[in-house]
Amino acid sequence: MATDLRLPTDRIVRPDKDRFLNEENPFEAMMSRFDKAADLLDLEPGLYKVLRHPEKTITISVPVLLDNGEVEVYTGHRVLYNTSRGPAKGGIRFDMNVSLDEVKALAAWMTWKCAVVNLPFGGSKGGVVCDPLKMSVGELERLTRRYTAGIIATLGPDSDVPAPDVNTNERVMAWVMDTYSMHVRHTVTAVVTGKPVEMGGSLGRREATGRGCMIVTKEALAHLGMNVRGTTVAVQGFGNVGSVASQLLHREGCKIVAISDRTGAVHNANGIDVEDAVAYVKERRSLDGYAKGERITNEEMLTLDVDVLLPAALENVITTKNAGKIRAKIICEGANGPTTAAADTVLEEKGIFVIPDILANAGGVTVSYFEWVQDRGGYFWTEDTVNDRLRDIMTRSFKDVLDLARQHKVNMRTAAYMLSISRVATVHRLRGIYA
Ligand code: NAD
Repeated sequence: MATDLRLPTDRIVRPDKDRFLNEENPFEAMMSRFDKAADLLDLEPGLYKVLRHPEKTITISVPVLLDNGEVEVYTGHRVLYNTSRGPAKGGIRFDMNVSLDEVKALAAWMTWKCAVVNLPFGGSKGGVVCDPLKMSVGELERLTRRYTAGIIATLGPDSDVPAPDVNTNERVMAWVMDTYSMHVRHTVTAVVTGKPVEMGGSLGRREATGRGCMIVTKEALAHLGMNVRGTTVAVQGFGNVGSVASQLLHREGCKIVAISDRTGAVHNANGIDVEDAVAYVKERRSLDGYAKGERITNEEMLTLDVDVLLPAALENVITTKNAGKIRAKIICEGANGPTTAAADTVLEEKGIFVIPDILANAGGVTVSYFEWVQDRGGYFWTEDTVNDRLRDIMTRSFKDVLDLARQHKVNMRTAAYMLSISRVATVHRLRGIYA
């Protein structure tokens, strides 16, 4: 007789599905999608409860000696959401909007994201509440090292592997790697990904998330029978993800008609010169003052008449307040959580094809996985190998999600959650509950 791998069932207590959640609480937004997929999967109650809770939540105070001699104390979080499939993987974000609920949501999204593209990782995330743009390099380094020391018990190539996220970069990862290595008394390159190539980083990692967005956008265009050449695109956020996605889509023949950052948006119906805008931002650190187009607000940009909208900034930019006005045919979610759960319904009613964040921006963690594999093997791949393997994983994952969406007659987001939750659930059933 086949072994029953399902966890023992008990009475299920699920939140009222129709209760209107706080639309902008990212953890609630994540959970409402999780609930919908869990229902469709008929997830057993015990496992449902397990997967609704993060495994580990750490909050620390991070005292930093400022350049003026004063001491400031920042708050830092690290959440390991689920490690059933492998070491936790997730970025570190430095931003004033960081909160524990946000970090929990981002850690859960990392869990589903790694599972959707079938990487042997669990999910985590970290963040420090601070404004890095107002800090000197020395202050940032001290903040990074003290935060790393504070969460060091969770870190390690086999336990929890950070990467860059909003307002952190290769340099910050180098400090994390060095601090960890100093504590354990030997160099451990695989403890972080997104490092400089000179110290064990992977070729292609910096561009990977934007490249993944480009790949799935092309898949979506093909699925909808639309031409890549001449496709009009508006990109919100012109940092790592948004700028690279713009460059690569532009090279594929798309017309980038609007870009934006925290200082506002630029619209040019004839097409933005993306390389010129990248060079401008590299020099000035923002699009402020960029005059080769009409200045519009971020809000106006979201509702432009374009084929593809690519939000690549922060959460909750597409809400019930503006979803009805969005005219794009495809939304490629470069950012994590740009659409609220309530806005999903509006977009679906309008027939907009949404490539959900956990699929659309999974290129970054995929090449992070390649970096971790290369560090552990001590053998490094060419950029073409990295990009080819990334393309294989992104196209296969897009197809997996699309197939499931068709099979269950659900949208791409629900299908992506169903695929990832079922993969995590299978491992939990196989492992059982340790008592
Ligand atoms: P980044 O810090 O490099 O860039 C963020 C950009 O968003 C900047 O241009 C900033 O000015 C802009 N921005 C900030 N607030 C804004 C606002 N209110 N309106 C418009 N623009 C605003 O960050 P990033 O690494 O590009 O990350 C962007 C998003 O992509 C985040 O949601 C992040 O979690 C997600 N993401 C990043 C990666 C990665 O590899 N970097 C991987 C997966 C997902």
